[in-house]
Amino acid sequence: MFSPKEDLDFVKEEKLAELERRLGYSFKDKGLLKRALIHRSFAFERDLKENYEVLEFLGDAVIGLIVSEELIKRFPDKREGELSQIRAFLVSEPSLSKLAKSIGLGEFLYLGKGEKRSGGKEKSSILCDVFESVFGALYLDAGFEKAREIFKKNFLPLMWEILERAPTYKDFKSYLQEITQREYKTLPQYRIVKAVGPEHDKEFTVECRVGELTTTGKGKTKKAAEQKAAEEMLKALGVVDGSGES
Ligand code: MN
Repeated sequence: MFSPKEDLDFVKEEKLAELERRLGYSFKDKGLLKRALIHRSFAFERDLKENYEVLEFLGDAVIGLIVSEELIKRFPDKREGELSQIRAFLVSEPSLSKLAKSIGLGEFLYLGKGEKRSGGKEKSSILCDVFESVFGALYLDAGFEKAREIFKKNFLPLMWEILERAPTYKDFKSYLQEITQREYKTLPQYRIVKAVGPEHDKEFTVECRVGELTTTGKGKTKKAAEQKAAEEMLKALGVVDGSGES
């Protein structure tokens, strides 16, 4: 797959060993791991034939398979549609770049000068890609079983944590609060504007206000109506996709 003769000796042994230590795996073919760290901009500057992109392509599939399997184990009752939505969220750039950051993957990257200067080591798009390429390399060097074991040991707990905090799958109110605090230095205000129906079958309408914007939500409980109003507010703010698809 790669030109085997290409000289990648600029990658220092100590650096490689440190990354292997963080992954908990020692590569048989060090060249694979080296390749996984080379960004297009660096390859271009050094006139190298290959960068990490083919490994990234492969790693994308490897991670997709690992995550799919973990999802069906964790959510045996969820249907295919929802499982794919959750998977799409978990293998997206924001999630994978968090996993990459958890082992400081950015430090090990080889970037071209321009990319380096513009803070490429911190860019979530690059971190996501290099995370995938490392898993492509792990798969080729160690096989699927081992790659899965490494993922489960090092990244799965954080991945579940990310999912727990995910807006779309859980708590719109908390997510909205986080956003408004951060972006607008204010908290969303909720108030019940209507409660109709008999005691055992009430329907609440709750209004959510953030600055000039108001949205409403209906629900069987006050809490459910607030969640709905918060979800509508997230859509109004453009944070959550309003089309109902992820
Ligand atoms: Mn990618």
